Amino acid sequence: MNTLDVSDVSFAYGQREALKHVGFSVAPGRFAALLGPNGAGKSTLIALLTRLYDVQQGDIRVCGCSLRNAARPALRQLGVVFQQSTLDLDLSVEQNLRYHASLHGLSRRQGNLRVEAELARQGLDERRREPVRALNIGHRRRVEIARALLHEPRLLLLDEASVGLDPASRLALNQHLRHLCREQGLSVLWTTHLLDEVQPSDDLLILHQGRLVASGTADALSQAHGGNLDNAFARLTRAPGATPGVKA
Ligand code: ADP
Repeated sequence: MNTLDVSDVSFAYGQREALKHVGFSVAPGRFAALLGPNGAGKSTLIALLTRLYDVQQGDIRVCGCSLRNAARPALRQLGVVFQQSTLDLDLSVEQNLRYHASLHGLSRRQGNLRVEAELARQGLDERRREPVRALNIGHRRRVEIARALLHEPRLLLLDEASVGLDPASRLALNQHLRHLCREQGLSVLWTTHLLDEVQPSDDLLILHQGRLVASGTADALSQAHGGNLDNAFARLTRAPGATPGVKA
């Protein structure tokens, strides 16, 4: 079973169509990068996945459960890291996680176990008593990932999570997430507008003007465009009349 199935999803803000018949799947253990220039529809898709908006047309299933008629079990399998951090900067790493575990309805014992497991999994054990304020942005992101995984979802959604990170932290975050996919079977949907965050084996989903204009591994897409992913992206997302090769 796929971790995520987006089937023929369309969405409009009044008369303005933001998504047009979008369909794709993410399999267990896969890292899927959702790319598109501004206005492509990425945020709208995230809003539908997190149920900020209701699906108007089509269906979205997480681990087989439809967001339309089985939203609770579907959302139970989803962990989210939003662009804006919502950590309490004055609480310690551990306190932030414990607080969130209780919000998830985990018992104290279960919560403690999950917090310990995630501190170890995210390499945060030694920083546990530090206030989040003392951590650099890369480590804060790790705390957010730990928090998003406390309830053991199968799908981790990250919305432009590398914004504000220096190149070294971006690389570390990227490698860390791929490790979680490879070693632990987690599926990741990662939205970005930066092509250099994509690796050849990733599933690449390119949105442009509300349509999914390409999907497949980054490697296959690159080969189909003369071995150059930048060219592929530029061609696929070119606005009518725009200068060829201009990247978003
Ligand atoms: P992206 O995240 O890729 O930049 P968005 O999902 O924000 O794209 O936008 C997709 C389209 O929907 C754009 O044309 C945008 O102008 C429009 N849009 C986004 N949010 C709203 C809104 N709240 N009301 C009306 N139109 C919107």
